[in-house]
Amino acid sequence: MKNNIIILGGGQAGIYAAREIRQIDSKSNIKILGEENLLPYERPPLSKDFFLDKKKEEDLYFHSSDVLKNENIEFENISINKVDFENKKLFAKNDNVYSYDSLLISTGSENKKITLDNNLKNDIYYLRNLEEAKKIKEIVSNKNKITIIGGGFIGLEIASSLSQLQKKVIVIEIGSQLMGRVIPKQIADLVQKTHIEHGNEIILNKQIEKITKKKMAIMKFY
Ligand SMILES: Cc1cc2nc3c(=O)[nH]c(=O)nc-3n(C[C@H](O)[C@H](O)[C@H](O)COP(=O)(O)OP(=O)(O)OC[C@H]3O[C@@H](n4cnc5c(N)ncnc54)[C@H](O)[C@@H]3O)c2cc1C
Repeated sequence: MKNNIIILGGGQAGIYAAREIRQIDSKSNIKILGEENLLPYERPPLSKDFFLDKKKEEDLYFHSSDVLKNENIEFENISINKVDFENKKLFAKNDNVYSYDSLLISTGSENKKITLDNNLKNDIYYLRNLEEAKKIKEIVSNKNKITIIGGGFIGLEIASSLSQLQKKVIVIEIGSQLMGRVIPKQIADLVQKTHIEHGNEIILNKQIEKITKKKMAIMKFY
C-alpha cells in the first residue's frame, strides 16, 4: 500500500529514518520537512574539525541531493508550527498545509537561552547549527578572550578548539563539576586539570543570571 510518510525535522535522525524506511517500503511517498535551508548535516564537527578548518562545509552533509533523488526521498525547507494529530495535518508558518498517513517527529533539541539585555542580542552567540558555527568562527577570529557558558561536552569542545587557536578561554559552569550529567567526578577532575594546563580558566558552581551591556556576566554565587 502506498502511504504518505512525513518526517518532521531534517537532522541526523530524520535522514537516517527516511533511508531506513525506504529500504523496506519502495512505494510510499517519503518527505522530510526541515526548517534549516540545508540538507541534513553532521553537528559534531561544528565544535571541532569544522571549527578548526579540518573539515569543510561540504564534508558535513550526510548524503548528497543525488542520493535522496535516487531513493525518491523529498526534502522541503519549511518550518512547521502546528500538528493536528486527529486530522493528520501539519501547518507551516507560511500557511502551507501537509497531510500525512504516517508521521515521524525528529525535531531534535535547542539551546537554553539566557536572559539578555535586548541591546546585546547580537553580541551573544549560541552554538547549535551550521549558520551559528560559521558566525562564531568569524567573530572569534579577531577576539582574544572568550567566555563560554556551559561546561558540558560541547562547551568544553569549543574551549579546547579555541585554546588550539591560542585564545584565552573562560568556561562558566553551574554544576560542581564539568560534564556532571555524563561522567563521574574523578574523570571530570582530570578533564578540568587538562583544560587548566592548556591555559583555560574553569569556573564552577556559578549560574549566569543575566548578561549586561557592559559585557559583564552577572552570576549567582552559591
Ligand atoms: C556543536 C555540537 C557538537 C556535537 N558533538 C557531538 C559528538 O561529538 N558526539 C555526539 O554523539 N553528539 C554530538 N552532538 C549531538 C548530536 O549532533 C545530536 O545528538 C544530533 O544532531 C541529534 O540529531 P537529531 O536529528 O535528533 O536532531 P537535530 O540534529 O537537532 O535535527 C533536528 C532538525 O529538525 C529541525 N526542526 C526542529 N523543529 C522544526 C520544525 N518545527 N519544523 C521544521 N524543522 C524543525 C531543526 O532545525 C533541525 O534541523 C553535538 C551537537 C552539537 C550542536
